[in-house]
Amino acid sequence: MGVSIICTVLYALLNGASVYLTIPLLETLFNSGTESISIEKKSDNANDSIIIPPELNEQITSFTEDIKNYIFSGDQSEVLLKICLLIFIAFLGKNIFAYFQAFFLAFVEQGVIKDLRDAAYKHLHKLPMSYFKGEKTGNLISRIVNDVYVVQTSVSTVFLNLVREPLTIIVFLGIAFSISWRLTLFSFAVLPFSLFFISWIGLILRKQSTILQEKMADLTTILHETISGVKIVKAFGMENYENKKFINQTNKLRKTVLKMVRIRNAAAPITEFLSVVVGVAIIYYGGHLVLQEGTLKASEFLGFLFAIFSIMPPVKELSSVNNKIQESSAAADRIFEILETEPKIRNIQNAVSIDTFNSKISFMNIFFHYDDSDELILNDINFEVNKGQIIALVGSSGAGKSTLVDLIPRFYDPTGGQILFDGIDSREIKIEDLRKLMGIVTQEIVLFNESVINNIAYGFTDYPEEKIIAAAKAANAHDFILELPHGYETIIGERGTKLSGGQRQRISIARALLKNPPIMIFDEATSALDNESELLVQEAIERLMKERTTFVIAHRLSTIRNANRILVMDQGRIIQDGDHQTLIQEKNGLYKKLYEMQFN
Ligand code: ADP
Repeated sequence: MGVSIICTVLYALLNGASVYLTIPLLETLFNSGTESISIEKKSDNANDSIIIPPELNEQITSFTEDIKNYIFSGDQSEVLLKICLLIFIAFLGKNIFAYFQAFFLAFVEQGVIKDLRDAAYKHLHKLPMSYFKGEKTGNLISRIVNDVYVVQTSVSTVFLNLVREPLTIIVFLGIAFSISWRLTLFSFAVLPFSLFFISWIGLILRKQSTILQEKMADLTTILHETISGVKIVKAFGMENYENKKFINQTNKLRKTVLKMVRIRNAAAPITEFLSVVVGVAIIYYGGHLVLQEGTLKASEFLGFLFAIFSIMPPVKELSSVNNKIQESSAAADRIFEILETEPKIRNIQNAVSIDTFNSKISFMNIFFHYDDSDELILNDINFEVNKGQIIALVGSSGAGKSTLVDLIPRFYDPTGGQILFDGIDSREIKIEDLRKLMGIVTQEIVLFNESVINNIAYGFTDYPEEKIIAAAKAANAHDFILELPHGYETIIGERGTKLSGGQRQRISIARALLKNPPIMIFDEATSALDNESELLVQEAIERLMKERTTFVIAHRLSTIRNANRILVMDQGRIIQDGDHQTLIQEKNGLYKKLYEMQFN
């Protein structure tokens, strides 16, 4: 940034010099009839000192005198050559510095954008589960992709113009002042009303930009929903409906963009027209000074015009900078909304480090409701689990089983009560340590777009292959993996080889086996498995549960029979607690009813 600013200063000075050099050039050409060129002191120099301090004024004057003396020594053709050479050098230097300035700015820009994207992404991982439930996936993706892109496209323009254009303006303004302060002041008396117009346009554009980015996010959301729900869309024959929804959105998007483009396109010609109005007024007044008053030389007046018209493009650029800033700050707002969302679930100061689970987990007076409603999902839950026990959670859908299980790895914190691991409140334990103790296998099996081996060893880079293969064998996955086109190196997941539901589940079980955590959380899925697959999965699950403390949301009879303890949940409460034999004998108990419904 520093290097770039230095280049910019040099650029602006040389840019000024290239215009300033037109004055001696014109003087040489206009005076071509006379033998020697006289150096006159400018007539309104005395007046200049009102604005510039006297000592500085003297220095500037003697400096310009020196330059003039140098240029005008010698005969005319020599003078012409010198001026041309100086113009050549000024333009060469100006362009070289313009390049390097842009070069270094691009470096800064790309760095800023990368940091912003990384920060937003990293922050996503810190946000609690509830944030993801509340935000639409497409919306989040859109912010990190589209909004960051909007910021990116404007960052360089903004950086470039905020440094370069003001400097250029200052240099040309200096030149204009040194030629005639009266004419300069006159010129700038006419400018403010065009500035007012410029900022007004900026305001409108910013509003439109926010709307645009929201529409973009809606579009991404529809796209995401359609792609991930393609099966349902097809099965229900909803293609036309989805098409209409999408077309409706793109239509809104088109209208918004058109509106923005129209405003932006109108801004440029109107600004230019206003500039010309200003320009005509200046020419009239300047001409008066030359012709009637005679206080200004014709060559100086032309030099002045060059300088003042060189100010116009940067002023125009600055107007677009304003628009760009308005657009990108709307996008930036949306990114910072992510960055500024406080992670609710995080480590407290002096969080306790643990690396083993020794004796028991206690749920003490647990109450829970989700952020968006006051309805109690868990209502006074109390129980203790000893190390090595298998706890099956049973109950009708919506009873709160998944919610209860989500509290264990702190996906959510209870709104009342505590969960103690070996007597330590889970909120006092380092989250990383806590989650290291657990393996989770859910119904929605997530496989990443990587090789089988990397999917099994997810999160570990240094696992020996034998161990991975052993885990795959224990999960009954080894045989089918070997049959894949590239064995363990086959890419699976979204864009890779397709696996059946049972195969996917066995890979996720292998993943959990490899991690070998002392606590297992299991949301059993029975759906979509054929008989053979079910048996293989069943075996794998039983191996996974062995010698571990296991929480299972149970759907299988065998799991329920194997469990040391069954908790029957209804409307957020535990209403029955015991093993299969005990519970089945409780007449009119919910367990007996559920059992009969499901398995008899
Ligand atoms: P189960 O696993 O027993 O089927 P859940 O724990 O999934 O039950 O759900 C219990 C209740 O909590 C349900 O009424 C459900 O609507 C509600 N619920 C689940 N997740 C959320 C959420 N993210 N926000 C608000 N309510 C939720």
